[in-house]
Amino acid sequence: MFDPSLFQENISLKEYNTYRVGGLARYFYIARDADALTRAVRHAQENNSAYFILGGGTNILIPDEGFSGVVIKAEHQRIDVQDDEIYADAGIPMGALVAKASSLSLSGLEWAAGLPGTLGGAIFGNAGSHGGETKNIISEVEVFDPMHTIVRRLSARECDFRYRHSAFKERGGVIIGATLRLRKGDAAEITTLMKENMQKRIAHQPLAQRSAGCVFKNIELATSREGEVLARSHADFMTFHDASFLPAGLLIDKAGLKGSRVGGAMISDVHGNFIVNDAHATADDIISLIATTKKGVQEKFGVQLQEEVRIIQNKK
Ligand SMILES: Cc1cc2nc3c(=O)[nH]c(=O)nc-3n(C[C@H](O)[C@H](O)[C@H](O)COP(=O)(O)OP(=O)(O)OC[C@H]3O[C@@H](n4cnc5c(N)ncnc54)[C@H](O)[C@@H]3O)c2cc1C
Repeated sequence: MFDPSLFQENISLKEYNTYRVGGLARYFYIARDADALTRAVRHAQENNSAYFILGGGTNILIPDEGFSGVVIKAEHQRIDVQDDEIYADAGIPMGALVAKASSLSLSGLEWAAGLPGTLGGAIFGNAGSHGGETKNIISEVEVFDPMHTIVRRLSARECDFRYRHSAFKERGGVIIGATLRLRKGDAAEITTLMKENMQKRIAHQPLAQRSAGCVFKNIELATSREGEVLARSHADFMTFHDASFLPAGLLIDKAGLKGSRVGGAMISDVHGNFIVNDAHATADDIISLIATTKKGVQEKFGVQLQEEVRIIQNKK
């Protein structure tokens, strides 16, 4: 249910992102059902306010000056199951979705075990891990188009999913929910694979520290000539010769940047593609460290890293 009196003012966004940085949201609204989500967006538009949709805040960087518009947090969490098809609201945490699939012996989400954030965030960035990607389980995405005030149902193809990319990154749109295509599987096999994937995360990611996961996209060899040359000819990267990607974390590591810091932000010494807030970092610390990392990798290997993490901007 939508209630405009529930818009809060000057709310610290630090509690709502996993870096635990950033300033205040001028207005903040928690949408607990799909109707509240779309009506909150309409409300922001009618008041000429900039807005953005916040999921779990696990892949964003909120600036120190905060956000001068409306932050609408998607917390609607309806799930409907029909045979091997699940309709889930975008605000559902991926952990809850993974647990639901597992409890119903539905296979397809094993790769997502331990993936933080919401379904909406995963669709927005086509999140993936352990060889799986969000796009592989999407049958249809329900999107609110605020410009035309209509709800559309987009097929996976229309979502233009690519590596850490979806149409929503370019066209905007409010992801309301999605129908997921899973398949009946063996309960024991599903749980075993999920546990293995969790173990890999625990072994390779600095999970006890505050981060937003991978800061940079891996280098796609099909589209990066510099990356392709490195994988063909540089001793440190030749094992990736036949791979699709050169890991950004390895480039950062081989550029000698692990452990670098700016203020309270540090490049993790566990995983080169994670920046951790280990000593009261500010968003500016993290932004500076992102810039010096890009410069360092460019100078050493001639490759331009691109951010995977979304840096929230205020309209000037
Ligand atoms: C420890 C750790 C490990 C991680 N591991 C992985 C990994 O293995 N693979 C991976 O891909 N990512 C990983 N991440 C990053 C992150 O978890 C994913 O990108 C996740 O899908 C982001 O979801 P979110 O709900 O937190 O999105 P948010 O961070 O809240 O938002 C990210 C972007 O999505 C937009 N958005 C969110 N919901 C909606 C919606 N309903 N409608 C429209 N736009 C929306 C936001 O506006 C923002 O631009 C990791 C992060 C952490 C902290």
